Amino acid sequence: MLDRIRIVLIGTSHPGNIGAAARAMRNMGLEDLALVTPRCDPRDQEAYSRASGANTLVDAARQFDALEAAVADCTLVVGASARSRHLPWPMVSPRAVAESLPQVLAPDGARLALVFGREDTGLTNAELQRCHQHVHIPTNPDFSSLNLAAAVQVLAYECRQAYLATEEAAPPSASETDQPFGVAWDNPPATHADLERFFVHLERTLTAIEFHDPDNPRQLMARLRRLFLRAHLDSMEMNILRGILGTIDKRLRDRD
Ligand code: SAH
Repeated sequence: MLDRIRIVLIGTSHPGNIGAAARAMRNMGLEDLALVTPRCDPRDQEAYSRASGANTLVDAARQFDALEAAVADCTLVVGASARSRHLPWPMVSPRAVAESLPQVLAPDGARLALVFGREDTGLTNAELQRCHQHVHIPTNPDFSSLNLAAAVQVLAYECRQAYLATEEAAPPSASETDQPFGVAWDNPPATHADLERFFVHLERTLTAIEFHDPDNPRQLMARLRRLFLRAHLDSMEMNILRGILGTIDKRLRDRD
């Protein structure tokens, strides 16, 4: 279970925080570290000294140019946010995220990304709108922002507790493992890359039928993202939606 959890750090500016996050991860048994456009050298000496023994994670950390690339193969993407945002989004506690993991990670190929923002400005709205859910670590409301590596530590700790609870529980029977919802789900969950391709297509078609005006977008695409991300689409549902859009596109072409 823990090997299918990725920690994604966006725009980190202090190498020490990357090292400290790697240490927090290794303490809790997580290994998959992804860095999106770090604003420092992640292999700076300060990273290794704060990693104190978790150097392998720092060395193995993969770098990406964009959040979408870092989470393309993930089936659940959860953004960690210290502040509430203008457009409310499904909000979960660290414990609730962790406790959902046995179910979330049951399907073959399922993978979770926990996404953390910049030390100074956190995650942008656009980045948060690419997440299925937001997680907030309940803190003193007057002083709610944790150090980046401390926030990674809290989430990684909760994941480990959930993992230990599954280890302690009686080993599930084969039928339980196959049927996390009582009945086996018939299709694998859509990946983040599938969703991003769908959102591009959706925006293009809504523009073509003049429902959406890119010059005056309001919050239409953000609200549609929230709707479809909340539905946790499987790959067949994704194909049906793409098929509907494709048919609309074809009708528009036939008409012209
Ligand atoms: N000053 C920034 C916070 C940066 S802290 C802001 O106001 O948004 C760096 C990152 O740690 C955040 O982007 C977030 O991913 C994580 N983090 C810090 N405190 C958190 C909290 N209370 N709950 C969830 N994530 C938190």
